[in-house]
Amino acid sequence: MNIILLGPPGAGKGTQAKFLEDRFRIIQLSTGDMLRAAVASGSALGQQAKAIMNAGKLVSDSLVIQMISERIDQPDCQNGFILDGFPRTVPQAEALDRMLADKGLRLDHVIEMKVDDEALVDRITGRYSCAKCGAGYHDLFQIPKVAGCCDSCGGTAFKRRADDNAETVKTRLAQYHAQTAPILPYYQDRGILKAVDGMAAIDDVTRQLEALLAA
Ligand code: AMP
Repeated sequence: MNIILLGPPGAGKGTQAKFLEDRFRIIQLSTGDMLRAAVASGSALGQQAKAIMNAGKLVSDSLVIQMISERIDQPDCQNGFILDGFPRTVPQAEALDRMLADKGLRLDHVIEMKVDDEALVDRITGRYSCAKCGAGYHDLFQIPKVAGCCDSCGGTAFKRRADDNAETVKTRLAQYHAQTAPILPYYQDRGILKAVDGMAAIDDVTRQLEALLAA
């Protein structure tokens, strides 16, 4: 099963993709995670992307299209994948269609996670993760059971994304509305777009997604 999770930054795409990975044995492909790994490694690609990401702008279509195309060819994607953060522009959506057709694959579901803009700023600026295992936390909504200690692995070091600050969030939301939201009618016209209420509690959103995907 191949699916796209669409929605603004902070909608919960990454959080839900982790649940779906386990539930349906498919792989999360996050272009944001791949780009952050490239930045951390100091590769030429990472150096190219770093300033753009820190400004909350989008990196070039060709760069992410190639990254995703190569990643989908890896054996761990054979059972299916969840695209998280890609496509983000209409040209990326069109390129994805061509790429999947060339590979003999197709999209099964495109799911929009709907969240109000006002909620997103608080969600994004408060989030952080365990530096060791990547488990996600939030200053207000999801604090570790024991202060300073990761619930999942016991790690004590945490990190925040460089672009999760109030200023950059505004640019990222503006980019979403200008560049990414126009993808929705593209999939709507093809009859594969569905939506979940991303304002609901995390477990609730997971149940909505499971119901849609199991249908
Ligand atoms: P994300 O983790 O999905 O919020 O992505 C973080 C940042 O990576 C974005 O603000 C962009 O700068 C860049 N990025 C991630 N995915 C894409 C994409 N599909 N197209 C262009 N830029 C992207």
